[in-house]
Amino acid sequence: MSEHRTGAPGQVKEVTSLANPLVKDIKALALKKFRDQQNAFMAEGLKLVIDALDLGWSIKTLVFAKAGLGNPTIEKVAARTVAAGGTVLEVSEKVLSAITRRDNPQMVVGVFSQRYLPLKDVRPRDGDVWVALDRVRDPGNLGTVIRTVDAVGAKGIILVGETTDPFSVETVRATMGSVFAVPVARATTEAFLAWRKGFPGLVAGTHLKGAVDYRSVDFSGRPVLLLMGNEQQGLPDSLAESCDRLLRIPQAGRADSLNLAVATGVMLFEIRRGALTLGAEG
Ligand code: SAM
Repeated sequence: MSEHRTGAPGQVKEVTSLANPLVKDIKALALKKFRDQQNAFMAEGLKLVIDALDLGWSIKTLVFAKAGLGNPTIEKVAARTVAAGGTVLEVSEKVLSAITRRDNPQMVVGVFSQRYLPLKDVRPRDGDVWVALDRVRDPGNLGTVIRTVDAVGAKGIILVGETTDPFSVETVRATMGSVFAVPVARATTEAFLAWRKGFPGLVAGTHLKGAVDYRSVDFSGRPVLLLMGNEQQGLPDSLAESCDRLLRIPQAGRADSLNLAVATGVMLFEIRRGALTLGAEG
């Protein structure tokens, strides 16, 4: 295969130059501005890419290391990419390292279209659990929450206000693939508050000044929206006042608060306590 500078989708190209425009476009996905311009994001690893395709995500480009040539699983994924109208790039290790900014990159990288669930389409039913994150800043926290939402079988996440990007490389890495399984909606605080008025179940906020022990609440039999505060400031009054209950996780020791992702995990496992049993995985 020869190196092409540009090309129509649905093709396979061999690329060894960092100056190749297709490579430059993918490298640019490290920055939010270009992710938004291209409406795209990057996910690393063969398993993740297969999971994403199985879940119906739209692949724009599949990048794989030359060393993957002849690997039947990679070739199958490449064929699926071409069939979906995507482009397949067979690249040198140097190019893959530059794209992922890692010395020992995964053999496969997928570039996918971003996808948000419109807030109006979040219509919870009994037993459904949603998590709303107020101005979450840290990509590691957001990725960990997405992974935990997936693990407990909650339905999805609503990002409220200015938040870190769910499609940044750091966030996607921290989700360990759950970014493809968990619907994410986003809203301004005002839009969220308007939508919240129609929420048919319990809106449970968490707050360091909450008067109610989170273990004393019966979460069963109704939709639950768990509202978590910003890492530095916690929930602002407007959001705290919109909650049916403000719950607290009792603490001992010197720490003022729990890490946001840890607090979300503690809450989610309590809310989903009755739904989770050993042997139900899969
Ligand atoms: N300085 C912030 C404050 O005053 O709220 C700390 C925020 S904490 C790092 C981030 C979020 O995690 C909080 O807004 C709350 O939603 C949740 N959180 C952490 N520890 C908690 C606890 N012990 N009880 C209830 N919520 C907690």
